[in-house]
Amino acid sequence: MISREAPVHTLGRSLKQRYGRRLRRVMLDLGLTCPNRDGNSGYGGCIYCDLSGSGTGAAKREEDLATQWQDGLTRARKVNPEGQAAIIYFQSYSNTYPDLTPLSEALEQIREWSSVAPILAIGTRPDCFSEEAADLLAAQKPFFDEVWIEFGLETADDHVQKVIGRHDTLENFHIACERAGTRGLHRIAHCIAGLPEEKDDGLLRQVEEIAKAGCEGIKFHQMMVLRKTKLAKMWMDDKLDLLHAPEYIQMVADALEQLPPEVIVHRLVAEAPETEYLAPKPWPGRQKVHSLIEQELQKRGTGQGSRLKTP
Ligand code: SF4
Repeated sequence: MISREAPVHTLGRSLKQRYGRRLRRVMLDLGLTCPNRDGNSGYGGCIYCDLSGSGTGAAKREEDLATQWQDGLTRARKVNPEGQAAIIYFQSYSNTYPDLTPLSEALEQIREWSSVAPILAIGTRPDCFSEEAADLLAAQKPFFDEVWIEFGLETADDHVQKVIGRHDTLENFHIACERAGTRGLHRIAHCIAGLPEEKDDGLLRQVEEIAKAGCEGIKFHQMMVLRKTKLAKMWMDDKLDLLHAPEYIQMVADALEQLPPEVIVHRLVAEAPETEYLAPKPWPGRQKVHSLIEQELQKRGTGQGSRLKTP
């Protein structure tokens, strides 16, 4: 599967193999919150999170789910005019918090869209993933080809969790992954490179823990400074060391070499609307970073998993 031409097991390649096409994510926003915003574990959110909870903000604009779906599907249909086209993705905030009622009601509604969207993805925090949440999502498996749970890990260092005001733990991440895994839910872990006080091997440590937890997927992000975040204030006060693209490309290439080859890479770099994005600049576009990472691996003569120690 991993070759010189395709040194990374990307989601695009995996979907093409399975469905003959790349399904497009349709982002749905339930307008919920997160324990790190309402005071349950913290106030004001993680330092990099904007007011929309890293989502579309559609619920704040009072767009109902059906409208959000139709808009998203119209965009997906530009690429896939017929047949299966989309992945339903509940992205913003923590979708299993504060209780399961809004998500449960939404799941009743979206099931009928599964003929067009054969994959369901739900984003949440590990500390919001109870046994009941795991059961609710496992109950969706008969309606979809796969149900994905996207967990933020973001750092494997609990000290950095505090620095970034995230207030979750590595232990919670492993508990949540275990809960999802035993029910046959696919686990996708989010990681971030370059957070304040993260050690040089921070991304490698995250990949190590993600592999240990048995996750089926991973998303790589760089630390981005967005408007209306605590990070923006730190950046304006000149209190941030930014990770720039050449360094990021090396770090991700190193991390990929240590990532088991069967783990699907859902994202190699984060993106944000230009109107919200502050730093680091310049930053190449998504496709460019993707190519530079693959070129780096080709130059090294390595690929995903090539430096994994065999037992
Ligand atoms: S846990 Fe997620 S939604 Fe909550 S503040 Fe952090 S990034 Fe935002």
